[in-house]
Amino acid sequence: MNAAVERVIAAMSFDVIVVGAGPAGIVAASLLAEQGKYVAVVEQMSVAGGQIWRNAAQRQAPKIALRWLKRFQHPRIRFLNNTRIVACDQQGALHAVHDNDEALHLRANTLIFATGARERFLPFPGWTLPGVTGAGALQVMVKDGLEVRDKSVVVAGTGPLLFAVADTLLQAGANVQAIVEQRSRWQLIRFAASLWRWPRLLVQAAGMLWRLRTVPLMRNAWVSDASGETEVKRCTVSNNQSRQTSFDCDWLACGYGLLPNQTLTSVFAAQNRNVNVKSFSLGDCTQVAGVNQAIASAERLAKHLLNNTTPANETPRYAKLLQKHFPLRAELLKLADNDTLLCRCESVTFGEVRHCHSMREAKLYHRLGMGRCQGAICTVAATTIFGWQTLSPKLPLTPAPMRALLSDSTCSTPSDHQGVMP
Ligand SMILES: Cc1cc2nc3c(=O)[nH]c(=O)nc-3n(C[C@H](O)[C@H](O)[C@H](O)COP(=O)(O)OP(=O)(O)OC[C@H]3O[C@@H](n4cnc5c(N)ncnc54)[C@H](O)[C@@H]3O)c2cc1C
Repeated sequence: MNAAVERVIAAMSFDVIVVGAGPAGIVAASLLAEQGKYVAVVEQMSVAGGQIWRNAAQRQAPKIALRWLKRFQHPRIRFLNNTRIVACDQQGALHAVHDNDEALHLRANTLIFATGARERFLPFPGWTLPGVTGAGALQVMVKDGLEVRDKSVVVAGTGPLLFAVADTLLQAGANVQAIVEQRSRWQLIRFAASLWRWPRLLVQAAGMLWRLRTVPLMRNAWVSDASGETEVKRCTVSNNQSRQTSFDCDWLACGYGLLPNQTLTSVFAAQNRNVNVKSFSLGDCTQVAGVNQAIASAERLAKHLLNNTTPANETPRYAKLLQKHFPLRAELLKLADNDTLLCRCESVTFGEVRHCHSMREAKLYHRLGMGRCQGAICTVAATTIFGWQTLSPKLPLTPAPMRALLSDSTCSTPSDHQGVMP
């Protein structure tokens, strides 16, 4: 996007700006556009679809995804891909960076945040080896074209996402060695029994379990160690009876649940208390409750906005169910030893921060979470392990060229500034 285009977009007026083109953002934007609203949809990835519908056209995606992606091609929707919101100002404007270079400031009277969820990763010895990833992260890489045919993969962590990930990997031709779940057999059965309220989910789950019937499921178990010289080659799975099993693997995908991605919404709310901009959160960034719930909440919000009414703020039942059935067991919080890296960007070890009393102390004395990813992984891990409170996010949310953070007049002039804020 060149400076001229940037100026045009900055000058365009939108009725609504949607941040995030996952199912929630796509559905809300499409419904509003179909009813005459001009909508800008800002998405940091190159394609629309979010975590679950990305590259849907190239995969055997569900029909509902293809239907909504088609409706999303509406002439009143301006899709700004490769565009990341990095900050907001006190006048309610969103500051974005396009292609890691061009700055863009966007304004509208209604903002919808549909920024999805992020995965919780818990460190263990060997987790920084190439080939060790988040569970959802590996699934995303496969959806984006990573070749895993005939590769050995272990999927570990907790929650129904593990099965979805294993299913994607299996369909991509991977050799899934095992699904390692920290909860017990009975806890899983109790969760499955509670799914009767969501018949569509039950059918999806049954299909998935059938396809995964040959993959061993280890319960009451967790990955305690990964090893390999230059990349992961082996992992150790421990269980509640202190037994250990080893697996050879090319990929190790671990995920301990999804957490709402509320960084942007909380910054916006803190900065814009007195501004006359209506803002709403939608989908997984409110409570992680899956794609069907994301669609339903988008439909509800669009209806409210079109009828000028205020939507009710309620926690979806499925989100409560996930929280109730997949708490983390105590052993998982003790996997890291003193030499295990907690913050990969700043090379901070677990031993360095274990005696700190707060996230602030760990940050000030050891630079925990101050690297390029701004604590995307280690902050979640540290707050989970030590029970520390999360610090209020600082702007920019992710590294950005200086001019993306300056005023409108500055941002709409061509700039040769390439500096990056930490
Ligand atoms: C890694 C991962 C894998 C998952 N796999 C499955 C699965 O296999 N099966 C399943 O049923 N559910 C899965 N889920 C859950 C499912 O994706 C969600 O329930 C559903 O997609 C929610 O839709 P959403 O629109 O709320 O969020 P998302 O689909 O997550 O969409 C949010 C979008 O916002 C964008 N975004 C975030 N911050 C910014 C920003 N600052 N600027 C611009 N854009 C931004 C993101 O790039 C993303 O495209 C997964 C979730 C994750 C996190």
